[in-house]
Amino acid sequence: MDWTEHLEKAARGKVSRGEPMSRHTTFGVGGPADVFFEPLDEEDLRNALRLLSLEGVRRAIIGRGANLLFSDEGYGGCVIRIGKGLGSIDYDGRTVKLGAGVSLQSAVVKLAEKGLCGLENLAGIPGTIGGAVWMNAGAFGRSISSCITNVRAVGSGGEELSLEKEALAFGYRKSFFQENPDLTIVGAEIETGDENPAAIKEKIKGMIADRKRKQPWGARSAGSFFRNPPGAAPAGALIDQAGLKGLSSGGARVSSVHANFIINTGGATCSDVLSLADEVRKRVFAFCGVELEPEVKLLLDGSF
Ligand SMILES: Cc1cc2nc3c(=O)[nH]c(=O)nc-3n(C[C@H](O)[C@H](O)[C@H](O)COP(=O)(O)OP(=O)(O)OC[C@H]3O[C@@H](n4cnc5c(N)ncnc54)[C@H](O)[C@@H]3O)c2cc1C
Repeated sequence: MDWTEHLEKAARGKVSRGEPMSRHTTFGVGGPADVFFEPLDEEDLRNALRLLSLEGVRRAIIGRGANLLFSDEGYGGCVIRIGKGLGSIDYDGRTVKLGAGVSLQSAVVKLAEKGLCGLENLAGIPGTIGGAVWMNAGAFGRSISSCITNVRAVGSGGEELSLEKEALAFGYRKSFFQENPDLTIVGAEIETGDENPAAIKEKIKGMIADRKRKQPWGARSAGSFFRNPPGAAPAGALIDQAGLKGLSSGGARVSSVHANFIINTGGATCSDVLSLADEVRKRVFAFCGVELEPEVKLLLDGSF
């Protein structure tokens, strides 16, 4: 038996072969993964991680795929999607334990309904709690790290770790997990504040309206493509000033609404996105001497 058959036999969650990654990323780009696995619960995940590690199989963890670009050739190995199987929410007063597979949007809405504030700045950001912790996602001057107290993760041998906030090295779109790719986030504990549900919902409405005005709402993208460079104007402003809105390569285009969004106008390939991103980088550098770095994570065999 090869590792795929071992996994198919051992796993309780869904195992699929040749699943296109375009179906599992907001960009809608990416070829087939050798194997795609959606664990049914934490135990199922731990067993699969152990098996893949013993068999020496390459693996990638994804959530909603809202910050990812897979290559057109797909992924050689196993892609594990953390979703509903790790989707529990437990309330204990103002302390809330969220499974890594909880959708960020459902967490924002459910907490608002209970009058628990702290996550509302993340309204409108697609993703899961695991992906948001990994990226330290945030908006309007506040990131998820501001209310995190503890994160639970499992290692490649299936062993469990509990990490306090101080150990998580949060920064601008940065977390400890980016330097520790062997770890899979399984849950996060947050400390919220009390507020009137109607007031929280009003804030959420405002944030979503702002996104609809300033971003290509509804277009296929992975959000901001480039990180904001330190000590310079935001990446979107630099790309705009360099006159690159509307620049395209195949099915990929620099949004005319927000210049830091590369959008898939239909049928974009990963090569289209990368060649466009490369052109943007070169032209911004020629324009103002600033080197842009991607914020989107590239799951490619080569590097950007
Ligand atoms: C329209 C749009 C708007 C956006 N706006 C914002 C914004 O305002 N602010 C912002 O910060 N981001 C924004 N993003 C980017 C994206 O939504 C966030 O980065 C989000 O946190 C990604 O979560 P995800 O579950 O989709 O992670 P994925 O994209 O699936 O994964 C991102 C990274 O996290 C890792 N990862 C995911 N889950 C786990 C886990 N359980 N354990 C270990 N590693 C894991 C993956 O391996 C990958 O490297 C936007 C994206 C879109 C499409």
